[in-house]
Amino acid sequence: MSAPVRPLFAFDDSYARELGELCQPWRATPAPDPRLMALNEGLAAELGVDARALRTPEGVAVLVGNAVPDGATPVAQAYAGHQFGGYVPRLGDGRALLVGEVHDVLGRRRDLHLKGSGRTPFARGGDGRAPLGPMLREYVIGEAMHALGIPTTRALAVVATGEQVARDTMLPGGVLARVASSHIRVGTFQYAAAQGESELLRRLADHAITRHHPAAAEAANPYLAFYESVVDVQAALVARWMLVGFVHGVMNTDNMTISGETIDYGPCAFLDAYDPATVFSSIDHGGRYAYGNQPAVAQWNLARLAESLLPLLDPEPEAAVGAATEVLRSFGDRYHRRLDEGMRAKLGLTGPAGPDDALTGDLLALLHAQRVDFTVFFRALADAARGDDAPVRGLFGEPEAFDAWAGRWRAAVSARQVDPRGAAEAMDRVNPVYIPRNHLVEEALAAATAGDPLPFERLLEVLARPFETRPGLERYAVPAEAGSGPYRTFCGT
Ligand code: AMP
Ligand code: MG
Repeated sequence: MSAPVRPLFAFDDSYARELGELCQPWRATPAPDPRLMALNEGLAAELGVDARALRTPEGVAVLVGNAVPDGATPVAQAYAGHQFGGYVPRLGDGRALLVGEVHDVLGRRRDLHLKGSGRTPFARGGDGRAPLGPMLREYVIGEAMHALGIPTTRALAVVATGEQVARDTMLPGGVLARVASSHIRVGTFQYAAAQGESELLRRLADHAITRHHPAAAEAANPYLAFYESVVDVQAALVARWMLVGFVHGVMNTDNMTISGETIDYGPCAFLDAYDPATVFSSIDHGGRYAYGNQPAVAQWNLARLAESLLPLLDPEPEAAVGAATEVLRSFGDRYHRRLDEGMRAKLGLTGPAGPDDALTGDLLALLHAQRVDFTVFFRALADAARGDDAPVRGLFGEPEAFDAWAGRWRAAVSARQVDPRGAAEAMDRVNPVYIPRNHLVEEALAAATAGDPLPFERLLEVLARPFETRPGLERYAVPAEAGSGPYRTFCGT
């Protein structure tokens, strides 16, 4: 079963080569009866791989981990992490493997990684497995994020293993083949720093600089410039999440990348009604990872990254802390600049900030007070810019409060001398009609795991063009019916 196969991918494993102390060569546990459930043909093309070859038994064997392609050195990566605020010195890929790195058609280095591929030396008490449903969920939400223009890891394929996995009930098992610009996390730096060898830490930092933040290499203090780059990409990323109502759900430091890509779609979900306190994850009792806390948590995680990097920042500990603190403090400005810019775009207010800055905050208070759907609102507001107020007024139980706000909003649009129709079109380019709504995702996964792939494929098609209203897709553009109760997601998937 583990015979080498002809190379579908040409691997160049820089991580395994350069950072052997931070990973362990390992093999997947063979899946008894692999069946390809979903294949991302667009992504395969980006990787320069023939999708037809991936659909053959040899291709599926690679995607599920049954075959190790020639030239690959699969490894389980080591990392530490703060989980819900508590430090765990050794996490690592407990049920995942980095198969290898490939150069895509644009010459970018991308990781090919398997999740659900069996126990590794980092498995602790876990079974190394993943149920099929959550792997399909990661596929669809990642693709939705990608189509929304948000940096993310992406699914190449999901393969059913033919094995049952024990959770609350027995569930079909699955393996996700995932592509990322790398799987280097804040937790990877925490792990390297905890080894107490600054030479290893430096090698990891140099590797991450080359891969993700090459401009830092030219700076007077490359490691400080690297830190600043990570702070910047994470501030930008979290702003993007907030602008579409995305709740990651488990922002532990091991689930935060150095590249600025969203990673690990476990208990994540999108807001319906706007409420900063929204939590979906069943284990997030304190609301640590609530929607509205995400920027603060990102900054907290970046403080943990700074602590790990201190030995590289300055030989003088106090000077290192001072330099890191100054960069960390800039997170707020970097985040708010992106958020404000994005909110103005959502409201059709192009150009620089104006005296109407309070518009955004007042709007969010209104949406919160009247429990208005965050996604539906902005498309309906574009209709109002086109002259039809009825859809947006209909979203409010007490539309008078909205009317007062809308008068100020119209004044702000015209003060910028923007033609309202042009503003409406610009709004529609940034405000999605279709997001992976919880009930739609559940429906698609239930059908797929029961053997009917069509709802899943249909949902993927809808979410691939999130900004383009299409007739016949009305049910994809509205929240679940009232009375369906609060949505809950589960960790330990
Ligand atoms: P997560 O919160 O899903 O990002 O995972 C946190 C840690 O738990 C990582 O080290 C995972 O590799 C590990 N883990 C999660 N589920 C399992 C499992 N079923 N078997 C082994 N390790 C797991
Ligand atoms: Mg994780």
